[in-house]
Amino acid sequence: MRLLLLGPPGAGKGTQAHRLMARYSIPQLATGDMLRKEVADRSELGRTAAEIMERGDLVSDDLIIAMIAGRIDQEDCRNGFILDGFPRSPAQAEALDTMLSSRASALDRVIEIGVDDDILVSRITGRFTCRACGAGYHDVFRKPARSGVCDVCGSTDFVRRADDNEDTVRSRLAVYHCRTEPLLPYYASRGILVTVDGMAGIDAVTEQILAALAASSTIDSDGGRPLE
Ligand code: ADP
Ligand code: ADP
Ligand code: ZN
Repeated sequence: MRLLLLGPPGAGKGTQAHRLMARYSIPQLATGDMLRKEVADRSELGRTAAEIMERGDLVSDDLIIAMIAGRIDQEDCRNGFILDGFPRSPAQAEALDTMLSSRASALDRVIEIGVDDDILVSRITGRFTCRACGAGYHDVFRKPARSGVCDVCGSTDFVRRADDNEDTVRSRLAVYHCRTEPLLPYYASRGILVTVDGMAGIDAVTEQILAALAASSTIDSDGGRPLE
């Protein structure tokens, strides 16, 4: 299954991608995570991207497309993947289509996680992550069961992103509305877009996504009509 999670910063794409990854045994391809690794490694791409990311702007389409093109050919993507944070512009969406169609493949579903802007600021400013395993948490909405200890791996080492501050979030939201939102009608017109209510609790959002995927696979398996 080739899935794309679309939504503004803080909508819960990463949180839901982790759950879907476990459920379907397909990898999460998160361009933000890939870029942060390049920055940490001080690669040429990382040095170019760091300042752009700190401002909350988009890294250039060419660099991102080159980065993702190599990734989808790796062995673990054979049965599908969950795209998180890519594509983010019309040019990226077109490049993805070309990449997939040249491999006789296509996106199966695009899930939009809808959340109002005012909620996103509190989501982002309270976000932190386990440095060891990448599990995501929130100061208020998703605290570890034992304060300071990762539920998943037991690590006590957590990180907060440099760009997760109120000023940068506002620019990232503006960039989302202007550059990424135009992808919604693009995927809707192809009949592969499903929108879920991202303002519900984390478990309820997962349930909506699983229900949407189950419903769509029923329709697909019958050539377009729901089974009786
Ligand atoms: P994204 O990948 O879309 O930027 P994240 O998955 O990192 O978003 O979620 C942003 C923050 O909000 C995290 O701290 C996460 O724990 C929290 N969060 C995610 N989904 C929900 C939800 N449905 N309700 C409340 N908090 C959430
Ligand atoms: P969030 O889900 O919180 O918006 P991400 O981790 O997806 O954040 O992305 C962090 C930053 O990395 C973005 O603000 C942007 O600067 C850069 N970035 C990530 N993915 C892309 C992309 N597909 N195109 C351009 N820039 C990107
Ligand atoms: Zn952990």
